[in-house]
Amino acid sequence: TAHTGKNTGGGDVRLTGISKAYGSFTAVHPLDLTVPQGSFFALLGASGCGKTTTLRMIAGLEDPSTGTIFLGDKDVTDLPPYKRPVNTVFQSYALFPHMDISENIAFGLRRRGIKSVKKQVDDMLELVQLGDKARHKPHQLSGGQQQRVAVARALINHPQVLLLDEPLGALDLKLRRQMQLELKRIQTEVGITFVHVTHDQEEAMTMADQVAVMNGGRVEQLGAPADLYENPQTTFVANFLGTSNLIEAEVLETGSDVVVTAGGGKLRVPGDRCTSAVRQGGKVLVGVRPEKISLAHADDAGSIADGRNRVTGRIVDSSFIGVSTQYVVNSPAGAELQVYEQNIERDARLRPGAEVVLHWNPAHTFGLDAAQDID
Ligand code: ATP
Repeated sequence: TAHTGKNTGGGDVRLTGISKAYGSFTAVHPLDLTVPQGSFFALLGASGCGKTTTLRMIAGLEDPSTGTIFLGDKDVTDLPPYKRPVNTVFQSYALFPHMDISENIAFGLRRRGIKSVKKQVDDMLELVQLGDKARHKPHQLSGGQQQRVAVARALINHPQVLLLDEPLGALDLKLRRQMQLELKRIQTEVGITFVHVTHDQEEAMTMADQVAVMNGGRVEQLGAPADLYENPQTTFVANFLGTSNLIEAEVLETGSDVVVTAGGGKLRVPGDRCTSAVRQGGKVLVGVRPEKISLAHADDAGSIADGRNRVTGRIVDSSFIGVSTQYVVNSPAGAELQVYEQNIERDARLRPGAEVVLHWNPAHTFGLDAAQDID
């Protein structure tokens, strides 16, 4: 559409050796990070991990203690916020209450002395699908609609990078989910770089091309959502992005497949899904996502195909949650393993107390360094 066309300018956002200390407390440890131009990038982590501080340094709202920030080839480290081609959308989007939606969106252009703003404002209204709300005041809009106005108000300035600091934090769950898809659509349409801060793993996974998982002021792992989910490199990432069923095990053989022993049985882990410590032997943690595991009644264990990983267990809890049945299984291999099974007929559901075999394709197994703490 006419509002911008694809924005191809600007280049990558590059942080090199960026850190932030407050007195003796280090909020962000020296960090190297590249946000590819035109990508939807998420900084994900629990409260206090340093994600907002990192975003504020990109915005110029916080001075880094060390390091350099580049936008494309340009060093912007010492530029004040208003001289950076960057705009920020905050959770408290603070629209001007006495101005209507059009005037709110036009504000940035008017402040720069631009007089004929109608076309650009109309394009923005269309982009965020609020054409029919142009003359409304903010209080007449829902939270999600107000948030879209805040996005439009930022985008009309044609930033090279849009920074979003928990922009959906104030919305209820259903609206959050809608707005995630909406923001993703807007980002794809305008083509500029979005850097999005959130503590919600599902939100980051839904929206972002790339996610940096932060913990204690460091990036623990960076990757596409599916890579992070399938190949976590640390226990923190494994657990932060869902249930990981970490099983304590000991390495028996290394090679293209790593063979481990856990709870009296053997399990296979693809060598390329193991961290380096696992390949060297000793104690390891073996993980498998709950939806990758199938359950067989112990009496039917003979029907399980060869080559699958298997551990025995006993059902301690089962709950039907609509899309799946979720089981908690006690096993000699790991205290409480979670199993999600779909499309189980009501009558076929296993009851607490049932002796079972959990089995899965070894390809879905990952191996982590056991020296780390399990969060
Ligand atoms: P949240 O989601 O709660 O905002 P966050 O991951 O965004 O968390 P930051 O806001 O980046 O975390 O803060 C990182 C750490 O730095 C926190 O422990 C915080 O208390 C500390 N911190 C942030 N700003 C300051 C400040 N001005 N002075 C001292 N410490 C600060």
